[in-house]
Amino acid sequence: MTTTESRPVPSFEHITTDLLIDGRPTPARSGRRFDVENPATGGVLTSVADAGADDALAALRVAAAHQSAWAATSPRSRSEILYRAYQLITERADEFAAVMTAEMGKPLAEARGEVAYGAEFFRWFAEEAVRIGGDATTTGDGGTRIVVTRRPIGPCVLITPWNFPLAMGTRKIGPAIAAGCTMVFKPAELTPLTSLLLADVLREAGLPDGVLNVVTTSDPGAVVGAWMSSGLARKVSFTGSTEVGKLLIAQAAEHIMRTSMELGGNAPFIVCEDADVDRAVDALMVAKLRNTGQACTAANRVFVHRNIFDAFADALTARMSALSVGDGADPGTEIGPLVEAKAVAKVEHLVADAVCRGAQVRCGGRRVDGPGHLYPPTVLTDVDPGADLVHTEIFGPVAALIPFGGQGTAADDEVLALANRTPWGLVGYVCSENADRLADIADGLEVGMVGVNTGLVSNPAAPFGGIKQSGLGREGGRLGIEEFLDVKYTATPVRRR
Ligand code: NAP
Repeated sequence: MTTTESRPVPSFEHITTDLLIDGRPTPARSGRRFDVENPATGGVLTSVADAGADDALAALRVAAAHQSAWAATSPRSRSEILYRAYQLITERADEFAAVMTAEMGKPLAEARGEVAYGAEFFRWFAEEAVRIGGDATTTGDGGTRIVVTRRPIGPCVLITPWNFPLAMGTRKIGPAIAAGCTMVFKPAELTPLTSLLLADVLREAGLPDGVLNVVTTSDPGAVVGAWMSSGLARKVSFTGSTEVGKLLIAQAAEHIMRTSMELGGNAPFIVCEDADVDRAVDALMVAKLRNTGQACTAANRVFVHRNIFDAFADALTARMSALSVGDGADPGTEIGPLVEAKAVAKVEHLVADAVCRGAQVRCGGRRVDGPGHLYPPTVLTDVDPGADLVHTEIFGPVAALIPFGGQGTAADDEVLALANRTPWGLVGYVCSENADRLADIADGLEVGMVGVNTGLVSNPAAPFGGIKQSGLGREGGRLGIEEFLDVKYTATPVRRR
């Protein structure tokens, strides 16, 4: 445990804690509010408005009413709003970081990293707003001119999880603004304050009233269900669990809404026989411990070649057991609390199941006494491939090491078969010093993203997303804005001369 030196005390008084509808702070019609807690202390930070289905529909009607005027604004003006918001977030980085740490627990240094990452989506999409392209060609017989244009898809439903409270929002709001779409936005119940602060910043940056409407709720089924069945929204962009994603895809069918789904993962992390052990440990520390392991990109199954298994396990255990665990607001803390008590109970269950099936605990393996939902960095070796944590997102700081063997390409084939034995396909990681092997394994992994000798794949310039049950569509990169645009082509006969 770390002790308190000096910590910034975040203030919430200036954040709008009502719903934001048509630019106005609006209490829930029921008058209800729900508390936001600090997972490091269990203390209540503040409360926010608790919307029901009628509030949700009111917000979506506003978004729909503003759609055509917003779509008619110039790309340059939308770009400038995004760029100004990027600057404001950057200027207020410490404040954003303190709010994020207080409501979800990540250590302040990581929260500052997320502020830079999250703000960068606005800068990236400020640049994309003025580059929405078209195309012009003719039919094969030369008789018809084809002109392809892109236009905003229409009012969007945006839903985000609690684990990256700023970046998951800016990754959706940025391209929606750039494309000319209006929005209703439902942040996670556990972390509404970062999103409400973001909405305040966007207003300050000049976003017109009614373009972004923020609805906080403790009843996501009612709020989102009202939006999905209304027929007023043209698109849903969701980041969260595969379970809820499937529900939303089914709901989207009623009005044939476009869907972008960033869902769960079960990332394999492969350490080949010829990997540089220190470099591979560095990569795994990032892939495993970012956000205390609470990331869809977290390495969930660590496959290590038998010939270097002990050396790798020893080096990893030395690094993991040296980390300080505590309140993320304390400057010395490297591993913050998990987001809620349920999360600790889930990790405890997964570790107990693996141990029952023969896993060895090299470090950690027992919850840390509170206050706060603390679980220490944990290394398990000799994990049985049948253990529950091999088939479930751990969402905690537990590295599950599974040995694989064989020689040369037989080992590569064996580990690829193990890695691909999952319905998820978000990201995979591979460590080796052999370029041919890296290329083969990266090619063979059934995932949307591969980290080669690195544990970090997230970047606003890259197309983030998965295959199989990890999702549909891409966020960021050149593809991110396409998710918010419809394509139209016009055919005109070419006059023969
Ligand atoms: P979750 O339970 O699916 O929640 C995500 C969002 O959906 C929250 O805003 C939640 O609201 C809302 N929601 C819950 N039930 C709903 C319903 N019936 N209808 C509509 N919306 C509903 O996921 P989570 O536990 O917050 O986040 C962890 C999951 O997100 C993990 O599986 C992780 O892998 C995934 N994730 C994926 C990515 C990616 O880019 N692929 C990134 C980050 C996280 P409440 O907060 O009120 O429950």
